[in-house]
Amino acid sequence: MITNLEKKEKVMEKQTAGKSSQLIFEKSKPGKRVYLTPKIKTEQAEMRRWIPSVLERKKEPLLPELSEPEVVRHFLNLSQKNYSVDTNFYPLGSCTMKYNPKINEDIAAHPKFVHLHPYQPEESVQGILRIFYELEQWLLALTGMDRFSLQPAAGAQGELLGMMIARAFHRANNDTKRRKVIVPDSSHGTNPASAALYGFEVVTINDETACLMLTNPNTLGLFEDEILEIQKMLHQKGSLLYYDGANMNALLGVARPGDMGFDIVHLNLHKTFSTPHGGGGPGAGPVGVKKRLEKFLPAPLVDKKGDKYVLNGELPDSVGKVKSFYGNSGILLRAYTYMRKLGIDGLCQVSRDAIINANYLRKKLNGTFVIPYSEYCMHEFVASAEAQNSFGVHATDIAKRLLDFGFYAPTVYFPLIVKEAIMVEPTETESRETLDYFAQVMEKIDKEAKESPETLKLAPHTLPVSRPDEVGAARNPILTYRDFISQKS
Ligand SMILES: *Cc1c(COP(=O)(O)O)cnc(C)c1O
Repeated sequence: MITNLEKKEKVMEKQTAGKSSQLIFEKSKPGKRVYLTPKIKTEQAEMRRWIPSVLERKKEPLLPELSEPEVVRHFLNLSQKNYSVDTNFYPLGSCTMKYNPKINEDIAAHPKFVHLHPYQPEESVQGILRIFYELEQWLLALTGMDRFSLQPAAGAQGELLGMMIARAFHRANNDTKRRKVIVPDSSHGTNPASAALYGFEVVTINDETACLMLTNPNTLGLFEDEILEIQKMLHQKGSLLYYDGANMNALLGVARPGDMGFDIVHLNLHKTFSTPHGGGGPGAGPVGVKKRLEKFLPAPLVDKKGDKYVLNGELPDSVGKVKSFYGNSGILLRAYTYMRKLGIDGLCQVSRDAIINANYLRKKLNGTFVIPYSEYCMHEFVASAEAQNSFGVHATDIAKRLLDFGFYAPTVYFPLIVKEAIMVEPTETESRETLDYFAQVMEKIDKEAKESPETLKLAPHTLPVSRPDEVGAARNPILTYRDFISQKS
């Protein structure tokens, strides 16, 4: 077994060896160039005619000079440094990094969708309107809400829209004193009930409470059993309940926030409904509401009149748009494709498998690692590097060492209520073999913590960059290659 792991490590070393991490500017040599087919004279003259002379360059642009194979190799090697769900296991807690079926991409890239324009007349875009309409019906069925806006471009934007709707609702009732939103501090548990359980002060719900924001299952991957009691207390005091539905991966066909009494819900289509999202690209965070809040949604909504799909922009109480047109239609198309491909039974299976995978891995790691909340979990669980601490090893070191075996690192140090937290969400798309291999590597790392902790403190050993200054890189990014520029100008 161990020899297999060592082999894997060697392969990683080989893969990265000889791959220069030089910038393309550093590889540049004056005079090197790609062969260019000569421009036809009339073509050049034609181009000149359209570009005003004030905009014409006076000097050559500062481009690196390389041969064609050098350029190809440079970018191919760069692309191979990318890590993604398509490369290997990505057990990032709190983010649902699941495999994204390629058929989603085919549909979203179909020329009939790509070439649509949002200003086209309604009757010429019946197809996409039907998709928006049907997507909404699927989301309603899965969440138990009454109406959805597909406009928000991310989960966080959905949350903002949710707050806008809550404020509009209280204002419409001339109830202006409500200034408080109870947001369970993720570092202290996820709601007043568990806050009390963990020994913290319970915030009293009074007539200043506008809304409670809750994610269920919470950041420990545990389902909040007292939710019906909580919603009753809040509704009696006139407050609304907001559901952060980014964690729906455990709940498809299992439980519905609408049935738990939530008034406003956002979903992350780019997580639960499979769109690549690691690089901060476009997302979709549709917001669903109960009947009494429907009139506050952003316009337009897609309605069905007879067998025609129409855009309904007549929402006088709407909080206004949060995104141009209808949201990120490419992401909506991917989510729709995903749901149609799996069907209701398939979606139910997604959540069941996500829960089984998380519990399987939790059980496998239990003992090697401390698992502070040992009850059954939903889509994710939180382990702790507490035991490894006595050898001077921290959660970071374990996360860094995992990179040597080709894994993405789990989320560490979150949630804060768990010391040395290692948060793992395997998702339903991983095989038993992958989970077994991950557990085997985690056991090896635990052994290293006891026998040679310095191996972990210096990890990763197989990547071109070992331990970058993460805070420095985020706060002071260097985005221009100054030496190259100064040497050229
Ligand atoms: C990812 C996530 C969000 C935010 O979603 P974005 O699309 O990244 O803005 C909100 N809440 C939870 C629980 C999440 O996991």
